Amino acid sequence: MRPVLSWGRLSAEPHEVIELADRDGAAAEIARHRPGIAHGLGKSYGDAALNPHGVLWHTTGLGRFIAFDRTTGRLTCEPGVVLRDIQRAMIPQGWALPVVPGTQLVTVGGAIANDVHGKNHHVMGTFGEHVRRLRLARTDGEIIECGPDLRPDWFGATVAGLGLTGLVLDVELQLRQVKGPWVEAETVAFAGLATFLRLSDDSEADWEHTVSWIDCTSGGKASGGNVRGLFMRARPTEAAGPAWRERRRRLPLTPPVSLVNKLSLRPFNALYYALNSRRTGVRTVAAEPFLYPLDSLLEWNRMYGPPGFFQYQSVVPRDAALEATREMLDAIAVSGEGSFLAVLKTFGERPPAGLLSFPRPGVTLALDFRNGPAIPALFARLDAIVLAAGGRLYPAKDARMSREMFEKTYPNLAAFQAFRDPGASSAMSRRLMGS
Ligand SMILES: Cc1cc2nc3c(=O)[nH]c(=O)nc-3n(C[C@H](O)[C@H](O)[C@H](O)COP(=O)(O)OP(=O)(O)OC[C@H]3O[C@@H](n4cnc5c(N)ncnc54)[C@H](O)[C@@H]3O)c2cc1C
Repeated sequence: MRPVLSWGRLSAEPHEVIELADRDGAAAEIARHRPGIAHGLGKSYGDAALNPHGVLWHTTGLGRFIAFDRTTGRLTCEPGVVLRDIQRAMIPQGWALPVVPGTQLVTVGGAIANDVHGKNHHVMGTFGEHVRRLRLARTDGEIIECGPDLRPDWFGATVAGLGLTGLVLDVELQLRQVKGPWVEAETVAFAGLATFLRLSDDSEADWEHTVSWIDCTSGGKASGGNVRGLFMRARPTEAAGPAWRERRRRLPLTPPVSLVNKLSLRPFNALYYALNSRRTGVRTVAAEPFLYPLDSLLEWNRMYGPPGFFQYQSVVPRDAALEATREMLDAIAVSGEGSFLAVLKTFGERPPAGLLSFPRPGVTLALDFRNGPAIPALFARLDAIVLAAGGRLYPAKDARMSREMFEKTYPNLAAFQAFRDPGASSAMSRRLMGS
């Protein structure tokens, strides 16, 4: 037994960690050690990959590339392969993953089980859309091979299935062609949500990646509701930019109190806005630091101190987005809480790849909050706004949504239950599904 934390560092409960390293033996291992839940790199913020006092099937030892066809861009690999390793091996050969989330430091299995999205959702959809085949080990020993055109019902349950249909053993991915590791990028300062929506609409045809940072301290009614932000957009280019050398830094310790607090947030946000809003014009930059800036500081999640932190990520339909986002930013301003990491993005019109996939057409807002006494009341208010707007929350980021809210907002849940592996169970599945 050893303590295992998720990205939000909200708990450090003991787990029996079963290290999986042999693909052929993995099905027997999970049959021997159940109930349990797969655990990749633990980048889910809440309890999706936790099973306190129970078993975790740790997958990073299943980290091998199996086959790659350079002419078609089909890559077969094990589920513990890290997305950054795929990118770094494949981009020099002219191929890349079509979808990568805001950190490249996640496993293929984790990317499938949460059906993750990137900044290019409006063009490429979610990770699951690019999976051609996978093999799933059930805890009764059965192996199920599935894909969009082979047992698609199993495939649709396993993509975004939160690890609850079994253990993904290997995966065939369709990569996309790329010309190199560079992007043309631009940062546009904006004020007001209507301007954000207009910039999103204007950018979607010509820019593959779009995302906005917002200064959540500027969003309340007291400041006229005119949240200020930085709209960042990028697209692949053949041109080479200035040389980029990776600098790996690590937050060396967990501070005794959160570094993000009422005193630090305003000046920090003001500085970030001032520095970045001055950068105008299109420039060619390396894709990695532009698209995954957080990956340059390892363990930055420790800055919230021992109590840890939550991420609250919602999506609301487009027609309700203006009003609902305004209300959420107002509630956050009134609470006095807030986060440096506040991200606003539009999702495109893509059919969901999985029964429980999070993205839907509309606007997604993601904010980090230090754990503290103000959180329950604030999140209850945010939940009410999201529900009234017909939206939902992202399980990959969640640690506290109620079962009632999950049932109301994920209408395919009943259909999903038929595919569950009775030997797979997590803290999240017990909280949101009762088992
Ligand atoms: C800084 C940061 C930025 C992020 N940005 C984004 C973003 O932009 N978009 C986005 O969508 N997400 C984002 N995320 C969330 C992250 O992409 C997901 O939580 C992802 O699932 C984490 O992968 P992991 O390998 O760490 O898996 P874990 O967190 O360890 O597990 C996640 C889920 O996958 C299941 N799982 C893992 N391996 C297997 C397997 N072999 N078979 C079956 N199930 C398995 C687990 O049981 C669990 O349910 C971000 C996270 C961080 C920390």
